[in-house]
Amino acid sequence: MLMKKILCSLFVLSMLNAVAQNKYPITPMPVELKASTGSCEIRQPFGFILHDMDKHADDNGTPLFQEYLRKKLHITKIIDGDTHSYGLPTEIHLGIPEKNTPDGYYELEVKNQQIYITANAIGTFYAYQTLIQLVQKKAGKYYIPNCSIKDYPRFAYRGMHLDVGRHFFSVNFIKKYIDYLATYKYNNFHWHLTEDQGWRIEIKKYPLLTQVGSCRDRTLIGRYGSNRYDSIPYCGYYTQQQVKEIVKYAAERYITVIPEIEMPGHSTAALASYPYLGCTKGPYKVMDTWGVLDDVYCAGNDSTYRFLQDVLDEVMGLFPSKYIHIGGDECPKERWKICPVCQKKIKDEGLKDEHALQSYFIQRIEKYLNSKGRKIIGWDEILEGGLAPNATVMSWRGEEGGIAAAQDNHDVIMTPGSHCYLDHSQSRNEDSVTIGGYLPLEKVYAYEPVPAVLNASQAKHVLGAQGNVWTEYMANPEKVEYMIFPRMIALSEVLWSQKEKRNWNDFEKRLPGIFERLKQAKINFSGAYYDLSPTILPTDNYDGVLYKLETKDKSLSIRYMDNDSKIQMNLPQKNEQGKKEDVLSDVYWGQGKNYSNPILIKSSNTILASSYKGKEQISNTIEQNFIFNKATGKKISINNAPSKSYPGDGAFTLVNGVQNNKGLAKSSEFLGFLSGCEAIIDMGTPSPYNQVVVHALRQEGSWIWQPLTVTVFTSQDGVNYTSMGLTDDFVVSGNSNGTMTVKFGNTSNRFIKVQIENWGTIPSGKPGASNTAWLFVDEIEVN
Ligand SMILES: [Zn+2]
Repeated sequence: MLMKKILCSLFVLSMLNAVAQNKYPITPMPVELKASTGSCEIRQPFGFILHDMDKHADDNGTPLFQEYLRKKLHITKIIDGDTHSYGLPTEIHLGIPEKNTPDGYYELEVKNQQIYITANAIGTFYAYQTLIQLVQKKAGKYYIPNCSIKDYPRFAYRGMHLDVGRHFFSVNFIKKYIDYLATYKYNNFHWHLTEDQGWRIEIKKYPLLTQVGSCRDRTLIGRYGSNRYDSIPYCGYYTQQQVKEIVKYAAERYITVIPEIEMPGHSTAALASYPYLGCTKGPYKVMDTWGVLDDVYCAGNDSTYRFLQDVLDEVMGLFPSKYIHIGGDECPKERWKICPVCQKKIKDEGLKDEHALQSYFIQRIEKYLNSKGRKIIGWDEILEGGLAPNATVMSWRGEEGGIAAAQDNHDVIMTPGSHCYLDHSQSRNEDSVTIGGYLPLEKVYAYEPVPAVLNASQAKHVLGAQGNVWTEYMANPEKVEYMIFPRMIALSEVLWSQKEKRNWNDFEKRLPGIFERLKQAKINFSGAYYDLSPTILPTDNYDGVLYKLETKDKSLSIRYMDNDSKIQMNLPQKNEQGKKEDVLSDVYWGQGKNYSNPILIKSSNTILASSYKGKEQISNTIEQNFIFNKATGKKISINNAPSKSYPGDGAFTLVNGVQNNKGLAKSSEFLGFLSGCEAIIDMGTPSPYNQVVVHALRQEGSWIWQPLTVTVFTSQDGVNYTSMGLTDDFVVSGNSNGTMTVKFGNTSNRFIKVQIENWGTIPSGKPGASNTAWLFVDEIEVN
């Protein structure tokens, strides 16, 4: 075909040896990118010559690209045509590939004022996404650098999920979210529509689902377990008309919307609407807090299945997707164990136990959906009690579920919490509540969806992976954006780019451009990548401590403020909510100190630090409080090593001036032992002291117990020690913190030995009973 010939003859380009990354800021990285010199300047009026339009009847990329030109580049004159006679400055030529190509395949060539796209409809859409990423503005004019690209995706399933149950998001934001997915070449949107905290989709046959189930009376404030609530009713659902609009919007962007209707667990909003669906018959209420609830659909009652089939009938009418997600996770069996109807079902069907009843439940629903030509996806709990025959498994509790399912010849979508849960913290210095965990950008990027244990034929069952966005702690679109960006961009490269093309160093080079683009699009992203990484070190002469700050981007400068500089600049106090933003305006940062070498700290101080590019603050502010006592910064050794899981920053952790006061917030702030701990502090030539205070943690739920006893010895020569006393009195000082103090008469002995005894065996009735308790030691204070 003509197109191919033009392409071949035009490929005589001067190729550059190395691809200059800033020139081609494409993410995810294409299969093949050939750089060349020169560029296409986008001039008014921007012209189109569209070839082979008959073969591109289902091409949505071209009209959307035209919309982009009009709205974003303000190109008003765009002409569709079939000849070259217009003589317009820039032409786009569309062609169809001659051979069979992978789904999503495209070739893109930019050659001065000519742009060639060779692809089927989906590939054409992706070619335009790449083209848009290549558009650069210089001196008020738009350019696209010359290049030629061949590209196609590694995985068929490239998903992003959004939970609209915990918090509801408007149709406008859902469309925005779909745009984000399209930009980074995702092709599945997993829409989590029903939850304990809200039923979010209109079902005409069951109007109470939205009249009752879409509203909760109030919402938990702060972290789970706070037991504090607002008093604001929280409501929201999508009408069927809105759902259709969103499905269509996504389809135009080659994104399939997969609805999730949770069952049998996470269903109290449905039970609150129709109490006959539960085992106890209620009353139930739409939940106002998070977690896993005992009330689930009754699995014995046939009316439950009739209800769900009716709901799924309407859902199938709205969503043309091959897959319907039916949840299947986190379903406690407490109610089923004592429900006579459920027990009768177990007996009648010859089931082994309640796990087999869950399996029966899922398989019955699967059979129904299969009969309508659909397939189910379920979370990996659907493996328990026997996997439904045609089910696809979404592996979230690690990789194991996915591995087991693939080895059993089931399709798998990988979403392990360790790498794909974008609700986890991405910074050690988050300034708002997240569900916890720690999933930095690097770790997302490093994810490999195909577990190494799978052989080649099993590996084919791994369809791809997905980023999950649970919204317990995301009450507004800005927070969702903050949590997904830039991590969903890193994940897009995991899913789209060839394994051997993935290169963290290369991705890092593209990051400044990625952030710039997000900024231009007014997207609220996280700058956690630029977080300073702090270390606290002893000084050479054990006098004071050194606070060392490092940044990944060596071109950035670091600024900090200590107490002195804060007093000098008359820094206002934090406001009532403790909001630092008001305090740390640029004006104050401008007066901060420039960091060059580790900061020597010789008395109690609070350091604020951040990285800068010129005058612009790049990283989150980190705040480190140092509390000094006579032992701070002194030489310390411990006679038994801490657990490899909780090594802190070594023995110095116990005298580095940092006291953990937020429970388990930072694991570098304490040492963890499954035994006792014996520490020896060399005080040098101390002034008289008369007490030793050991800071320790107690969190029974995590199997962490206070020390049984603390015994203190002192010595002048480091050989012969005298006992100064012991204590078993643990004084609680915070959520899970406390102190144990040994007092004695004044002494100036140089060496202090502190023996901290492990609690021992966890008593019965407590979490982890009969196991050895953890001993978590924080600071050792000498006064
Ligand atoms: Zn029941």
